[in-house]
Amino acid sequence: LNKEEMKNYGYQVIDAIVDHFHSQNRKLPVAMGSREEMDSLFLEEAPEEGMNSKKVLDFVLEKVMTNSTNMSHPKSYSFVPGPSNYVSVMADTLATGYNIFSGGWAASPAAAELEIITIQWLLKIFGFPQKKGGGIFTSGGSMANLTAITTARKVKCGEDFSKAVIYLSDQAHSSNIKAIQVLGFKKEQIRIIPTDIEFKFAINKLKNCIAKDRLEGLLPFCLIATSGTTNTGTVDQLPELAKICKKEDIWFHIDGAYGAAAILSRKGKQLMKGIEKADSLTVDPHKWFFQPYEMGCLLVRNHKHLSHTFTEKPEYLRDIEGNTSEINFYDHGIQLTRRFRALKFYMSIKTFGLQEFRNAITYNIDLAEEVETLLRASKNWEVVFPATLAVINFRYNPIGKKYSQKKLDEINQHISEKVVSSRKALLVTTLLHKQVVLRMCLINPRTTFDDVKETLTLCEDFAKGFN
Ligand code: PLP
Repeated sequence: LNKEEMKNYGYQVIDAIVDHFHSQNRKLPVAMGSREEMDSLFLEEAPEEGMNSKKVLDFVLEKVMTNSTNMSHPKSYSFVPGPSNYVSVMADTLATGYNIFSGGWAASPAAAELEIITIQWLLKIFGFPQKKGGGIFTSGGSMANLTAITTARKVKCGEDFSKAVIYLSDQAHSSNIKAIQVLGFKKEQIRIIPTDIEFKFAINKLKNCIAKDRLEGLLPFCLIATSGTTNTGTVDQLPELAKICKKEDIWFHIDGAYGAAAILSRKGKQLMKGIEKADSLTVDPHKWFFQPYEMGCLLVRNHKHLSHTFTEKPEYLRDIEGNTSEINFYDHGIQLTRRFRALKFYMSIKTFGLQEFRNAITYNIDLAEEVETLLRASKNWEVVFPATLAVINFRYNPIGKKYSQKKLDEINQHISEKVVSSRKALLVTTLLHKQVVLRMCLINPRTTFDDVKETLTLCEDFAKGFN
């Protein structure tokens, strides 16, 4: 492409993105398509001859973007949505456009410096030691958890982890179990501790389990708490778990991928008490810090633990190793070649200011509480777990109907299936105490109370059609 063609191409892309930001609220959030349908649109051999770039772009805008569910849509309530923000989208575009290698100091001192600075901002937000502490941006929460558990194992077990045991609750996110398995732990080395009625660690059971493992000559080395469980937003008893870990010399990891950002709000700060005591903390800026995918982050109390775990010295990197004041992020985590994730975080915080983030998170928490009040005032709905960190779990259970448990499960499953297949909202179920419930995660600042009311009316209409 010549210079003019490149510019025109770019303008078309930007126009499409800006139009998307402005029109997304009016579009349907859910995309659905079978493998056959997608094959019929896209399946072909890699073309030997290229075609006009505008035609390719138009085809992509028309067929690819429209066949993707929009997790930034105000009526995308499920899993953990990704609200995103335009400034960060542009920052990502710049980082990709300049193709900045964010692995080592020598490749881009500015990229490394911005990662150091933005990590410092996060360390301060979460009350971690600023000089000694450190961290790294990752592709997401799953990678941050993997990086944390790898570090914990190295620091607490050295090379021999045959007797090591790791503890997590039955509400811990599945990425933790994945990470533990990737690291080669056997089933016998994993303790899934039951939770209490509020979905928090059953502390007594945890203590008994650690004691028993010690008696058997095993090495309890890591405990994973969650600050904002994906199901219910529950925050584990962080101060108490921190005490246990200290006494037992266990690495204390907190998975705050979805919930930890709430510390920026007054209510969230209360709930996050004790988070500053962790040895490592996963946060996930592509969730409630409103960054576009992919951006996770691991913070550690002592940055040397990361370099101790991940430093390798191959001969082909000897010329860029640097001196001690410089940080090569490829020595702090798994990736060597890394995209410049810090830029979007930096530019969005600089542009909006932390106060805007605080306002948005506070709005989300308040909105979930308003929705709880609305549900409680209705004859049709039962709140199964109260609004916590902008997550609420509820089910259709009209007063006076006396449905059996099985029937209630069927109705709520039916509501979710109908809502999703209408494509008007992304609202799926989860299981709490083996009951099928509807779950809303309201971390999108563009979601309004009216959006939720419309969705609940839609649900009620579908419930009436169930027999
Ligand atoms: N941990 C928790 C508590 C989560 O809620 C999630 C995702 O929802 C993850 C980890 C995984 O994060 P990611 O999807 O960014 O890999």
